[in-house]
Amino acid sequence: MSTDAQAVNNLDRGAWARRHNHALVALARQIWHADCTLATALALICETAADTLDVERVNIWKVDTAQSTLRCIHGYERSTGLHNAPGYDETLDCDSAYGAQLDEVRVIDTADVTRDGTVSASQAALGAYRQRHRICSLLDAPIRSEGELLGVICHEHIDTPRTWTPEDEAFAGSIGDYVAMAQEISRRRSAETQLRFLERHDPDTELPNRDHLLEVTQLALLPNHANDVGLAAIHLQLEAQPVTHSGAADIDSDTGVLLAVAEKLRANLGETVTLARVRDDGFALLPHRQLHETEALNLAEHCIELIQQSAADAGMHHAGVSVGIAFSRDLAAPSADALLRNAELASQRARRGGHNRCEVFDAEHHRGLLVRMRTEQALRDAFAEQRLLVYYQPEINLDDGHWHAAEALLRWRDEDGRIRVAGEFIEVAEASGLIVALGRWVLTEACRVASTWPQRDGVAPLLRVNVSARQFEQAGLVADVASALSTSGLPPSRLCLELTETALLRDPSAAAAILTRLRALGLGIALDDFGTGFSSLAYLKDLPIDALKLDQRFIAGLPDDRYDLAIVQAVATLARQTGLDVIAEGVETEKQAQALRDCGVVHAQGYLYARALPCDELVARFGGAA
Ligand code: C2E
Ligand code: CA
Ligand code: CA
Repeated sequence: MSTDAQAVNNLDRGAWARRHNHALVALARQIWHADCTLATALALICETAADTLDVERVNIWKVDTAQSTLRCIHGYERSTGLHNAPGYDETLDCDSAYGAQLDEVRVIDTADVTRDGTVSASQAALGAYRQRHRICSLLDAPIRSEGELLGVICHEHIDTPRTWTPEDEAFAGSIGDYVAMAQEISRRRSAETQLRFLERHDPDTELPNRDHLLEVTQLALLPNHANDVGLAAIHLQLEAQPVTHSGAADIDSDTGVLLAVAEKLRANLGETVTLARVRDDGFALLPHRQLHETEALNLAEHCIELIQQSAADAGMHHAGVSVGIAFSRDLAAPSADALLRNAELASQRARRGGHNRCEVFDAEHHRGLLVRMRTEQALRDAFAEQRLLVYYQPEINLDDGHWHAAEALLRWRDEDGRIRVAGEFIEVAEASGLIVALGRWVLTEACRVASTWPQRDGVAPLLRVNVSARQFEQAGLVADVASALSTSGLPPSRLCLELTETALLRDPSAAAAILTRLRALGLGIALDDFGTGFSSLAYLKDLPIDALKLDQRFIAGLPDDRYDLAIVQAVATLARQTGLDVIAEGVETEKQAQALRDCGVVHAQGYLYARALPCDELVARFGGAA
């Protein structure tokens, strides 16, 4: 070759190489695009290869080493522009020599198939294939990933033999790599998609999980989505109803019901909501449309029906559901988590209300609940840290002004050192059941303290201790009282328990039995807050009671309110005639005290004399008893 011809040839070859590179760069850009599927990538690769190498067909074959076969998974015909034309997916035997060669080289170039040694007699099918497709020259590039042979991409030149240039071969080799890369990208994308699916779905029902629902809710809560109606979230809590004959049924163990319910809901609610499984037995749904309260309630009713149906179909007739609805308008700030939680809280409330009920989240109720929960915890802490105290409010004899008895009242020194009165927390203690432990402690502490009170004329003051309904119903009360008395050495006759009408009237005959046992210990019983309850005087006759504490509301109006005066007079008369003691509560003025004297009431308690005091202050101020 002359130097000139050589230069021209070099220039030519440089231009070809650049053309090949351009084609590869453009191809890479397209393959990496997020929207590019594997099928599209393979089509692009084949087209680019056919155009760039100027061949009629480009086919991608998948190798099956176990079967020693090649199966065409993509075929492109340049003259017709057809991808995967009918019959493209042929399978050919893969000669072991050919396979071994593919495994080793970058490309196999065949300038003239008629002189190709690799096609032996045993490869008649391959020969026939080549003839059928009029193949004259071939450039085959292996497709490898991590050293493993996956397949081969064949560039088929037809009709005339052709000599492949080194640039053609280099390009074909790269095309093989691109097929491997496209397959790898697709494998990773599907693994990512699968992972993402698993992360966001519940494995049992394949419904979205709570995280997924949170995302959807968060998006829906964005300012441009919400209007004044706001978003609703519905929580559905499945529960098994106890069946008396076979014990409590357990929904957990019955995945069948759960799956049936999930399927029923999915099929019936369709695309109008996002349905998620948010707990073991809990589903939540977020309607895609903003709902008014009645619409949300209707939807909830519909869900209850669907769940009952599918539970019954699955043979679980006793399964129920509690439904809670929450609206985003009740949120102080838009928060998906808070919305879903509120719906769940509402469902818990529905559950307490009974079978198959629905509740709408009530922000006011919830705030109250929060405050109560915090108070309860703080109270438990105070109890554990011995920051509870007992104060004593004296009861005065109106005739001589002496200290006749004292009522033990619970006090709490909070973290700031402030003394909180029982009225602020006793309800929480009762509702939570904490009152049982607290009451036992008060009883022990007060008996211990009262045993030290000084005598006057050989008599020491009475100790009055409050017992709430919750304590009264608790089996250990009588034993607790006996133990407090014996430990302190306080004579039983100096102890008087205060009970309310409500505590006694829940089950009057049981109450009478307990009162009898208590009185058998030698102590007294007073009826607290007398006049505020049912005020049925009938039970006074049947219950062993020693004293009535006239509620403060009848004292407040004395002496001017004619009704209060009449009531106080009547009670005083009744008491005198039946031998009961009467104590007036909440006496705040001298006028009230005088009116009480005039009515014949002898014992009074109230701010006029003293608030509840620590024991030593009480003793210092009031000294010995009358
Ligand atoms: P209660 O048994 O009716 O106790 C009387 C309440 O009225 C006490 O409030 C007392 O401080 C308050 N009080 C006394 N004199 C006056 C007055 O002149 N004017 C006014 N406005 N109030 C007066 P406290 O200590 O807040 O107790 C509230 C309730 O908590 C008690 O009502 C009682 O039911 C309950 N309680 C207190 N200590 C205990 C306890 O150790 N165990 C149980 N089970 N309940 C307790
Ligand atoms: Ca009381
Ligand atoms: Ca009272």
